[in-house]
Amino acid sequence: MATNSPVNCRYYYADFHRGRSHEECRLIKRNHESRPWRRALCDSCPVPDILLNTNCKEIALEATVVKKWGLLERVEVYAVCAKHYIELDDPKFCPQCAVE
Ligand code: SF4
Repeated sequence: MATNSPVNCRYYYADFHRGRSHEECRLIKRNHESRPWRRALCDSCPVPDILLNTNCKEIALEATVVKKWGLLERVEVYAVCAKHYIELDDPKFCPQCAVE
């Protein structure tokens, strides 16, 4: 039985079919340097908002669960524009895509 509400994120995957109880973040799962993912991290994760509002046409993201001040975990994002091969200081704004 699901205990959490679904997450509106392309990287969220859940399987509660026939008694299964499996959830994962398929973005953080790719990053072997990250601390483990847990569902609660989605509630403050910046990724859905970035994907919704970025002007970057080919954004590529890497997400890492980090621990701040010894106790608070949160998701940090590293973004590049895969079209122009530049790092994005602000994942919501690619200066090269803006010019086009
Ligand atoms: S942690 Fe972020 S990227 Fe991963 S499933 Fe949750 S909202 Fe999506």
